[in-house]
Amino acid sequence: KLSLSGVVKRFGENIVLDGVSMDVSAGEMVCLIGPSGSGKSTLLRCMNGLEPVNDGAILLDGFDIAEPGIDLAPVRRRIGIVFQSFNLFPHMNAMDNVLLAPRRVLGKTGGEGLAAAEALFERFGLRDHMMKFPDQLSGGQQQRVAVIRALAMKPEIMLFDEITSALDPELVGEVLDALRALRDEGMTMVLATHEMGFARELADRVCFLDGGRIVEAASPDVLFSEPKEDRTRAFLRSVL
Ligand code: ATP
Ligand code: MG
Repeated sequence: KLSLSGVVKRFGENIVLDGVSMDVSAGEMVCLIGPSGSGKSTLLRCMNGLEPVNDGAILLDGFDIAEPGIDLAPVRRRIGIVFQSFNLFPHMNAMDNVLLAPRRVLGKTGGEGLAAAEALFERFGLRDHMMKFPDQLSGGQQQRVAVIRALAMKPEIMLFDEITSALDPELVGEVLDALRALRDEGMTMVLATHEMGFARELADRVCFLDGGRIVEAASPDVLFSEPKEDRTRAFLRSVL
């Protein structure tokens, strides 16, 4: 379980997260929605220690990962993140991209890591593409490889930052299918997304961010059908 309380993040004078508190329970899928610049990406990056926070606590199973000076390597193993730009290494085939971190960090060489990686490729419909280089894959395939690469570290929590927004529309579905499958397996996930339909269908909880604050958090049924806050209503009107 991940539990944020009063998280503040500043870039210079700019307060980007202004006291964010939220809980993510095991097996839950939480979607972050909100206007551009509201702090969604920054919040995700703080959640696995990619950005240090200025104030507040981020408890991972009760252990504060926002504490300065703690060893973040185990945190990043436990909390995987996938970005909008897939960031695959162009000079490595898909399989080597996936195996890189398990080999380096978990010390998995040879058979064990390979079998697990193959199973992931199979599961995400990429069995025939394991040996291809990124430039031989479609955007949707590359993004699924990026998801597999994060999963190969056996994270307990996955963070996804707009992972479909760089894709051609016809490729969005296959990546959302991969997320749906993960959700059904009980993976704990936090997604920043512009895909309101997806958030509505699959999220257990939706958090609407504006100006670095969670303005409203509710089940998708409630948040999309009967939002309580004016700002939420205005945002939904602008995107739906
Ligand atoms: P989008 O929907 O466009 O992805 P977002 O909700 O993810 O937006 P963030 O990327 O978290 O928003 O940015 C929130 C604010 O923080 C913005 O004002 C942005 O300019 C600022 N910001 C983000 N990263 C940095 C950085 N590394 N240095 C300075 N300012 C930053
Ligand atoms: Mg963003």
